[in-house]
Amino acid sequence: MLLTLTNTQSPATDLGFLLHKHPDRVQTFSLSFGEAHVFYPEASPDRCTACLLVAVDPVGLVRGKTQASRGLLDQYVNDRPYTASSFLSVAIGEVYSSALQGRCNARPNLVEQRLSLNVKLPAVSVRGETGLIHALFEPLGYEAEATRLPLDEHFPEWGDSPYVALTLAACTTVKNVLSHLYVLLPVLDDTKHYWVGQDELEKLLRHGASWLATHPEKELIARRYLRHQRSLALEALSRLDVPEEDDGIEPNGPVTEVGNMAVNDMAFITSEEAAVESPLSLNEARIRAVLEVLHAAEAESVVDLGCGEAKLLSRLLKDSRIGRLVGLDVSIRALEIAAKRLNLDRLPPRVRDRITLLHGGLTYRDARIEGFDAALAIEVIEHLDLGRLAAFEKVLFGCARPRIAIVTTPNVEYNIRYETLPAGRLRHHDHRFEWTRTEFQSWGRRVADHHGYQVRFQPIGEIDPELGAPTQMAVFEREAA
Ligand code: SAH
Repeated sequence: MLLTLTNTQSPATDLGFLLHKHPDRVQTFSLSFGEAHVFYPEASPDRCTACLLVAVDPVGLVRGKTQASRGLLDQYVNDRPYTASSFLSVAIGEVYSSALQGRCNARPNLVEQRLSLNVKLPAVSVRGETGLIHALFEPLGYEAEATRLPLDEHFPEWGDSPYVALTLAACTTVKNVLSHLYVLLPVLDDTKHYWVGQDELEKLLRHGASWLATHPEKELIARRYLRHQRSLALEALSRLDVPEEDDGIEPNGPVTEVGNMAVNDMAFITSEEAAVESPLSLNEARIRAVLEVLHAAEAESVVDLGCGEAKLLSRLLKDSRIGRLVGLDVSIRALEIAAKRLNLDRLPPRVRDRITLLHGGLTYRDARIEGFDAALAIEVIEHLDLGRLAAFEKVLFGCARPRIAIVTTPNVEYNIRYETLPAGRLRHHDHRFEWTRTEFQSWGRRVADHHGYQVRFQPIGEIDPELGAPTQMAVFEREAA
């Protein structure tokens, strides 16, 4: 299989620096499934073309594989050596790895430079109509030309093959072109040659970081790239809304909101408790505020949306008044930590039966979170893109419709009290927004009005007379039908 990349912006040979491959040499790389060669059929100041020729060893692919792991590749003669697919992505990732990652030590300023680039792929495996090619590449700024290849040109009556000759042209960076091809070639092919797991999800998010979130076909891309594994695709889509490293842990230092609070200012904590518990972290203060509301409302079933590592769930589990507990989160890593914290493997059956952890997203309707007395979203909404907040509102207040919903979020006005937090910065790098009290309250009132709930607001943490408390909580109660 062959990928040619041409730059016509002079000096066109800059392409050699970007790809880390000298135009005067032929270079060969060995890959786990064959060999790759890079060479330049032309390299002038006006026009420079780099060819990546990948030779797949089809026998090597099949030999030694069990029947179950072979999938579509169960014959010595198959199309993999000839068509662009995930093998080409792997070759791009290995042979052009620094260009793909946007590194160019010799000429770092070239990395962000947009060049006049042209890509040719003589045979791309495409499942579905060629319209898909346009739908995938045109939103990324390419002019795409796709010609369907006949199955056999001597026998036109046999019809078309599943392969397409593809040309792409765009004024963009080399890094962009490589990351688009890396993700989209396997998407077009829709058959991956290896098992898809969490690693693939991370690769998709990494290589799609700068463009996938806004791509109109992002759902199809995630679904196909992750080989139709629903839960992985769901996680990918949710994490596009909520960027990487989202573990819900706030940064170190005073920004962790722990410590020097005048605890007796916390309206909801009695002075006796304060005396015992001082100094009290804001996280602890939030947990107590939530527990108090749940007890007052006599909630017997609770779903914790965006439960993270189950700090709150582990407390709720100790409360035998709550007979049914569910924690839901999009992050598998957080759920694994949650399962450990809760000791799920070792709980006596009578306690184990009360709790379930679920993997899921908050901006998609999910029947599993319906029918609860109370739903919690503790320090979660600020991790959603503002554009996705309406979807969450619908999921929570329109579909799940708990009797009580508790939502907490930072009060941005209070941030100036955190001395090490630079002005204008949010408390956590993954926060999409932080609201003033007025903003949060007007959001809460609008949502309550719209969905038939009453809402009240309560500060959590030390109350500054001007700035309010560091955390703000809204308690929604469903109105009688
Ligand atoms: N409620 C927990 C964790 C808050 S951090 C606590 O108070 O400790 C935010 C959590 O929301 C993270 O665990 C993150 O994985 C989760 N999250 C963010 N966006 C989500 C989404 N779209 N769907 C489900 N969970 C999400």
